[in-house]
This record gives sequence, C-alpha cells and structure tokens, in this order.
Amino acid sequence: MKTVNILGTDYAIVEQTAEDNPKLDDANGLCEIYSKEIILDSEMIKPCKMLVKQPELYKAKILRHEIVHAFFFESGLIGYCENETLVDFLAAQIPKMAKVMQDTGCL
Ligand SMILES: [Zn+2]
Repeated sequence: MKTVNILGTDYAIVEQTAEDNPKLDDANGLCEIYSKEIILDSEMIKPCKMLVKQPELYKAKILRHEIVHAFFFESGLIGYCENETLVDFLAAQIPKMAKVMQDTGCL
C-alpha cells in the first residue's frame, strides 16, 4: 500500500472497484478524511469513460483532486474541503502555478 503524507498525516492511497466500495458508483476518487484514505477507482467505469484516452494522466488528475481535498481538511479548512469547484480548480491549476513559480524562481 502506498501512503502520502499530507501536512503530517499519512493517507493511504488505495485502488478499489465500485463493487468493493459503492461510493465509487458516483465518483472516480474519494478522499476519506476520517479514515485517512485516498481511494481511486481502479476501473474508472464512469460516464466519462469514453473520455479516458490516457488513463494514467486521468488517474493522476483524480489523485491530485483528492490530495487537494486532504490538504484543505488537514489545514482545518473543512468548508473549502467540501467545495468541489475550488478543489477542482486548484487540482487543475496547481501544476501550472508550480511551473510559473519554478520559472520565476519563487517556488
Ligand atoms: Zn472532490
């Protein structure tokens, strides 16, 4: 099992199927803030399956999204943690922000 440390708290990164975990019926990933698990759908069998042409990139996008949730929760920012628009925005933009910061020497 892989783990990631989010602000001092270990989160397990696990892959499950919707059969293993019915919560994956409605999501490709989950951030279980109380059991400290980031769960990725190993099958990615969602309505957007047709869009998943590069599964590893898609999986990374989902993982990034769930990590942002965990950062908000571990920061005590539960309201932001529950804000899917904000979480999605940051998950999409953080790599671009990091590149700009890297390029400008302020990372
Ligand atoms: Zn989310």
